Amino acid sequence: MGEVRAMCYVKPINCVRKQNQEEAEMSDNGHSEETKREITLKPRRHPRLWQSYLWWEEMMKLRQKHLLRLNAITRGASSYAPDFEEARIAAINPVLEEALDMLVADAQAVGPIYGLFTGIKGIGPSLAAKVLAQVDDIASFETISKLWRFAGYGMYEYWVDEKGAVQAPREGYVSMGTQGEREMVRKLTEPKEGWHLETRRDVKIAGWKSPYNTMLKSTVWQCVASFIKQQTPGYVELYYQEKGRWATEHPEPICRTCGVPVSECRAKRSHKVKLYTPAHMHAHAMRKVSKVLLQHLWVVWRITEGLPISRPWIHAVGGHGTYIAPEDFGWAIETRAYQNVVGREPAST
Ligand SMILES: [Zn+2]
Repeated sequence: MGEVRAMCYVKPINCVRKQNQEEAEMSDNGHSEETKREITLKPRRHPRLWQSYLWWEEMMKLRQKHLLRLNAITRGASSYAPDFEEARIAAINPVLEEALDMLVADAQAVGPIYGLFTGIKGIGPSLAAKVLAQVDDIASFETISKLWRFAGYGMYEYWVDEKGAVQAPREGYVSMGTQGEREMVRKLTEPKEGWHLETRRDVKIAGWKSPYNTMLKSTVWQCVASFIKQQTPGYVELYYQEKGRWATEHPEPICRTCGVPVSECRAKRSHKVKLYTPAHMHAHAMRKVSKVLLQHLWVVWRITEGLPISRPWIHAVGGHGTYIAPEDFGWAIETRAYQNVVGREPAST
């Protein structure tokens, strides 16, 4: 156990996962046995993959530092010796190549999902390896909702004040102790006067442990950004379709506080949140594509491991009741053929 603990302090990803699962289970069952409990750390299924990802990323960052210094010298912004930087870069290059080979080998060892994922235009070896390393074990996500929640696309009960601002989760984890001896303690919120419970999108709140894996969320976001850049068939059309739909339905930005077009809002300075701006519509479309990508990954990965697929995956995309088959978006696997075979509820639920 000593090894596992040490590993988790380096990157406490399993702690977050454990927390998510507990919260999900708790909301499923509608009760909590204890208000205070220490998280028990669960070992990773693919610890080597995570370690080789970290090593590759460290080497990339190191190389980047020296490239920036060399660039500054070339621009005349630095008086450092250029040959020194050039020699360092030349020394890092073979190490980086070896790190990438190792990363690919460790990602391939996860199973056929690596090959299928990198078969999608815009998903390179390092991006795929990073996602696989962070999800680690698809068997621990019995439903797509669990994976969405882990990746930052979940809902939970939050205490909201009179102004509509989220103040605290109904229940969550707070960090106690010093950095080296950190302990996550489960806490039930004591609501203040005027607060009420609302089911909201998961959010990060100061003082509380994030309810999701923030790094996975940003990695999935990176994947979708790459789809737009590379014009990945299927995903890029979905992105433009979502953006276009919103632009048609909401041709003018709206003040969130007043609920009127921004041009009619009388308190522009204090009412900062505007809906249906280009940035807001971009974020909405990115979110939609991210959820669909995660769903595809979940379906395909689970099929390759012979795991059951729960029925909600057919209807679960954004509540629109449409199922987007992974094979229509470039995944080299016939998921339709599996629908009748494994399209059933997991035995445990
Ligand atoms: Zn307003």
